[in-house]
Amino acid sequence: MPRAAFLARFRCLAGLALLWPSRLSGAESPPRTPPTRPGAPAAELPPSAARPPVRRIGRVEHVALPDVARALGLQFTTADQGRRATLKGPGVSAAFEAESREATLNGLRLFLGDPVALAGGVLCLSRVDFERSVAPVLQPGFGLEPRPAPKVIVLDAGHGGHDPGRVNAHLKINEKMLTLDVARRARRLLEADGFRVVLTRESDTFIALPQRAVASNVAQADAFVSIHFNALPQDARTTGVEVYTFPPRGQRSANSWGPGAKEDAEQHASPVHRVDGWSALLAHSLHGRLVGDLKAPDRGRKLMHLAVLRPLQAPGVLVECGFLTSEAEARRIATPEYRQQLAAALAAGIRDYARAVGTARRTPRTSSLPSSR
Ligand SMILES: [Zn+2]
Repeated sequence: MPRAAFLARFRCLAGLALLWPSRLSGAESPPRTPPTRPGAPAAELPPSAARPPVRRIGRVEHVALPDVARALGLQFTTADQGRRATLKGPGVSAAFEAESREATLNGLRLFLGDPVALAGGVLCLSRVDFERSVAPVLQPGFGLEPRPAPKVIVLDAGHGGHDPGRVNAHLKINEKMLTLDVARRARRLLEADGFRVVLTRESDTFIALPQRAVASNVAQADAFVSIHFNALPQDARTTGVEVYTFPPRGQRSANSWGPGAKEDAEQHASPVHRVDGWSALLAHSLHGRLVGDLKAPDRGRKLMHLAVLRPLQAPGVLVECGFLTSEAEARRIATPEYRQQLAAALAAGIRDYARAVGTARRTPRTSSLPSSR
C-alpha cells in the first residue's frame, strides 16, 4: 500500500498525533512489583505537614521527596547514593529516580510531567506532579476539591463511521468495531452495579472528538473513559496497555520528550484541568486493573494533549487496551472472551475509583485551580 495510505491507517484521531510515538516515552520492561489498588488505607495526615514547602529549581517549582513523604505519612528511604528514593506506607509505595520521568506508583509505571530533580543532594518532584499526579493516588483525593460518589459514567468508543481507527487487515478487525463492543460490554457490567452509563456513540457513526467530551458534560458525567486500541507501524512485537490523561497546565505530552520532538506545553487553562488530580486517580484505578487482571504488559500512565479530554468537566482518561499490530495480542483481542475480560477490567477499575472517591478524606487543598507553574 502507498506510504501515505499506510500512515493514514495508523492515524489515531483521538491522539492528534500521527504514529503514536509511545516508544519514545518509555522502556519496555514490566513493573517490578505487583500492582496494588488505589483506595488502600493511608496513614493519618498531620495537618501541619499537608503542604510540603515549595522550592524553585530553574523555572519549575518543586517539593523535596522527604517532605512529600512527611506530608503523606510515608516512610522515606534512599539508595544508589541518593539517586533513588522509595516512599512506603500501608498498602502504598512509590519509587523515583534522579533526572528520570519514569516512576513507579503502587507497582504501576508512571511517566511524570517533569523529571525528578536532584538539588543539593535531595530528590525533588515538581510541585505539579506532586499535587496532580502522585499525591492524589498515594492518598486518594489528597489536597483536592472533594467530589460526590460517582454515579454517571460516560464510555467513549473510539473512532467510528469513516474513521476506522487502527486496523489489522489480516484478522479483519478494526478499532472502531472493537471499541464499541468493549464499551457495550462494560456498560452492561456497570449498569448491573447500579451506575448510569452513557455511550458517546451507540452505532458505527463518526463523532468529532470535542463533541464526545461535550456529550459527557451534558450527561453530567462523574467519570469519562475513552476506549482505544493501539498500533505501531513495522512493529509486530510490542504489546501491552497504556493509560492517558491530559497534561496539567504547563506540562508536556509524554511524546514531546523524544529526540527531535516539539515541546508542547500549554500555558492556558482547559476545562479538564479543574479535575487533574481526580483524572490521575481514575487513570491509576483503570491502569491497575488492566495490568493486574489482564496480566497485560505495563506501558505506563502517560500525559497527552488529547482533544477528546480537553473540554471535559469530569475526570477523564483514554485507555489503549492493546496492540492490533501484534499478531498475538490482536488474536486475543479478536475473541469475544478477551473483550469481555477487558470490559470487566474497565468496570472493575471504575468501581475501584468510585470506592476511592467515596473514602477520600478531606485534606487541605494543596493548590488553587487551575494549576500554574
Ligand atoms: Zn484510537
